[in-house]
Amino acid sequence: MINQELKCRECSRHFPLQALAVCDYCFGPLEVTYDYGEIAKLDLKNRIEAGPRSIWRYADLLPVECETPIDLGAGFTPLVRAERLGAQLGLSDLWIKNDTLNPTGSFKDRVVSVALTAARGLGFKVAACASTGNLANSVAAHGAFAGMDSVVFIPKDLEKPKILGTAIYGANVVAIDGNYDDVNRLCTELAGEMPTWAFVNVNIRTYYAEGSKTLAFEIAEQLGWSAPDHVVVPIASGSQLTKVHKGFLEMQKVGLINEKPIRISGAQAQGCAPVANAFADGSDFIRPVKPNTIAKSLAIGNPADGWYALEVVKNTGGSIGAVSDSEIVDAIELLARTEGIFAETAGGVTIATLAKLAKESKILPDERVVALVTGHGLKTLDCVSDRVGISTTIEPRLESFLEALEKGQVKLGSASGASS
Ligand SMILES: *Cc1c(COP(=O)(O)O)cnc(C)c1O
Ligand SMILES: [Zn+2]
Repeated sequence: MINQELKCRECSRHFPLQALAVCDYCFGPLEVTYDYGEIAKLDLKNRIEAGPRSIWRYADLLPVECETPIDLGAGFTPLVRAERLGAQLGLSDLWIKNDTLNPTGSFKDRVVSVALTAARGLGFKVAACASTGNLANSVAAHGAFAGMDSVVFIPKDLEKPKILGTAIYGANVVAIDGNYDDVNRLCTELAGEMPTWAFVNVNIRTYYAEGSKTLAFEIAEQLGWSAPDHVVVPIASGSQLTKVHKGFLEMQKVGLINEKPIRISGAQAQGCAPVANAFADGSDFIRPVKPNTIAKSLAIGNPADGWYALEVVKNTGGSIGAVSDSEIVDAIELLARTEGIFAETAGGVTIATLAKLAKESKILPDERVVALVTGHGLKTLDCVSDRVGISTTIEPRLESFLEALEKGQVKLGSASGASS
């Protein structure tokens, strides 16, 4: 493997790759750095195109020594041209990155696959995490696949599908009487007590975070090795947003795509919008909030990478929007009806924010825009259960159906492409 190091994001000190959670000197967060000059000398496009149809095709830009990654098939999800949704929002070149189609139904499979592969190489024995739901699903599944025990910590009010979809893999599910920020604090303490436990988003967060870069790598590859003009990314801790940006910059550095400006915008729910609030106030300080939103997978009131995400958005000329719970559900329906993609609440946050930013001309009509839809709708069914359902119940007889049709209980002509 070509030389890689850990670098402190605050004081810029370098360390060899190791299980170091924060900088030894200033407690700043760490970042993996690569020898881009050497990587650029590889026959990168061919190495990637010959690789597996998963995030591991980009192994040259991931922080692992391991020859056999823990690969459940995360990544290489469809990038679809969203013409119908684009037409509704006034965007002529809109694309959806459909990360609902990952092995456990969310983008978290990307980060977990990298984190646990690195953790195994570093000698950790147990897979653990502090989760808002999707991370728990993914840690449990990858732990099972790798033959590792797993212990996941969640706020006790999570959606049932996320709890059952974790326990089914044999994971220990520990529910905490508190919100995500309480769970995270406990896990930070526990990580100090349990030296062989890899808390993927705590003590090995530096490795975990690198997995999100693969979203940028795939988008560029799927656009024929070119970057979009604008990307809309949901913000929970803010890690994904910063790493999508890093992924595009890395591809420019190693010559996979041409240099050009790429705007990165962020999406939050109004019930948990600490980064959007700071952006709106023009402040550099992310004031923590107590989350209260149906978008539980994004409900982090004190986001670890919030400040860095804000910087990326400001430096790239992007924007950050926040949307209400009812706008989130409207957007889930709109995406499903126009594009055939059923997203969880986080996807609703992204699409509703996309709509809002387009309306405010913060996204321009002819920009090539990619919106990240990061989790599957079957995980948050409850939020649509009073919106949609059975059209009508009839006797098993021809006349009954014709009668229902007559009464307008079965309606045609409402599809977004229907010419009526
Ligand atoms: C965790 C999560 C995110 C955002 O993650 P961060 O990197 O913490 O900002 C986005 N979408 C879904 C569905 C998630 O589960
Ligand atoms: Zn430091």
